[in-house]
Amino acid sequence: MQSLTILGATGSIGLSTLDVVSRHPQRFRVFALTAHRQAQALGDLCLRFAPRYAVLADAGAAAALQQRLAQAGCATEVLAGERALVEVAAHGDVDTVMAAIVGAAGLAPALAAARAGKRILLANKESLVMAGDVFLAACRAGGAAVLPIDSEHNAIFQCLPETARGLRGSGAAVPGEGAAGGQTAYGEGSPPAAALAGVRRILLTASGGPFRQASLAEMEEASPEQACAHPNWSMGRKISVDSATMMNKGLELIEAFYLFGLPGPQLDVVVHPQSIIHSMVEYEDGSVLAQLGHPDMRTPIAHALAHPQRIASGVSPLSLAAIGRLDFEAPDLQRFPCLRLAHEALDGAGAAPCVLNAANEIAVAAFLAGELRFTDIAQVNDSVLQVLGSRAAGRDVDEVFAIDDEARALARRQLMRCAA
Ligand code: NDP
Ligand code: MG
Repeated sequence: MQSLTILGATGSIGLSTLDVVSRHPQRFRVFALTAHRQAQALGDLCLRFAPRYAVLADAGAAAALQQRLAQAGCATEVLAGERALVEVAAHGDVDTVMAAIVGAAGLAPALAAARAGKRILLANKESLVMAGDVFLAACRAGGAAVLPIDSEHNAIFQCLPETARGLRGSGAAVPGEGAAGGQTAYGEGSPPAAALAGVRRILLTASGGPFRQASLAEMEEASPEQACAHPNWSMGRKISVDSATMMNKGLELIEAFYLFGLPGPQLDVVVHPQSIIHSMVEYEDGSVLAQLGHPDMRTPIAHALAHPQRIASGVSPLSLAAIGRLDFEAPDLQRFPCLRLAHEALDGAGAAPCVLNAANEIAVAAFLAGELRFTDIAQVNDSVLQVLGSRAAGRDVDEVFAIDDEARALARRQLMRCAA
């Protein structure tokens, strides 16, 4: 029985996780479920899964949830606030933490899980983009194991040699048995270079999003509804907008850098509109290994939940004959400048990824609120990156959040310029 905390349980990834978990009641026990302020939705999940704890970051919402669960005679204990998110992520009775809060808010609980040596199923890519070195150091110190949930990184993980499925420069790689097993893919402190020998390139696939074929003029007028109407994936609104700007692929390049340890020039993106191939690893001998499947997050979630075993996910079998063809094209950096910015941030390293992520969170929120044009998201990101991107990386979580705050403040000022 794996005891599970699901951070961001009411979201797209959280609900897909619970769908997989519900298919295997003999394998998984839900220890804690968390959300931001959706008390009704979290309450429904508590009545169904009966976790020991339910956490809402918002105190008012937590009070409403408490009342409802008490009336229903549900024994789940309701906690409130960011501190409680950290507590249920690091609790001694938890084996596995699904880190599926969206945005920078996911960093503190993911770090807590890392320090506590949990098996971390990492959907919250922001933890690595904002604080890659700090997060990896916490994993090393705590003996945590990380299994990537992002479909591309999960695919790459599956296509890499077993010895290379680890974190950059860390001994705290992904163990077959999870953190509790105490096994690592390579010895403490040994560099991953040897493990990656023979790997020439990682190829991340991108769907191209809803505006793959749109003109710049059409993109200028794009509404939040159009930007969130992803052709293949059903996801939360923030990541959906990121897919439309291709910032998501940019964040994923940075995520891949930290997860797999290959430098920027060995990380490439290819647009693949059907989203059937989830990513590829190219080897020196010319072999290219790919992982295929329907675009349904339950596949990578089930893979990570059961690793190294395989379990049913509820995803239907893939019929290549029915799909008929797979297409590929190079990304267009003119229409999707956010992808270029991510390459720039990766080259500069330091605080640049953190700065870019913070600016983008502000810009996307403004776009979703109808306060910014779609094409201005890249403008805001670019201008903040140019000013703050050369800062040194934060050495601890406080420094990371200080840089994040500064970049957000600058992004808000840029928003006003765009609106003027
Ligand atoms: P959603 O917006 O669907 O869900 C976000 C979840 O996080 C909700 O449970 C939400 O609670 C909670 N949350 C939001 N803000 C806070 C906060 N400040 N404090 C505590 N909890 C908070 O997001 P997704 O499921 O789409 O994405 C989650 C993460 O997974 C992101 O990092 C994303 O990049 C990554 N990811 C997602 C994929 C997908 O297919 N959706 C694919 C690959 C990666 P509430 O409901 O109360 O607002
Ligand atoms: Mg992805």
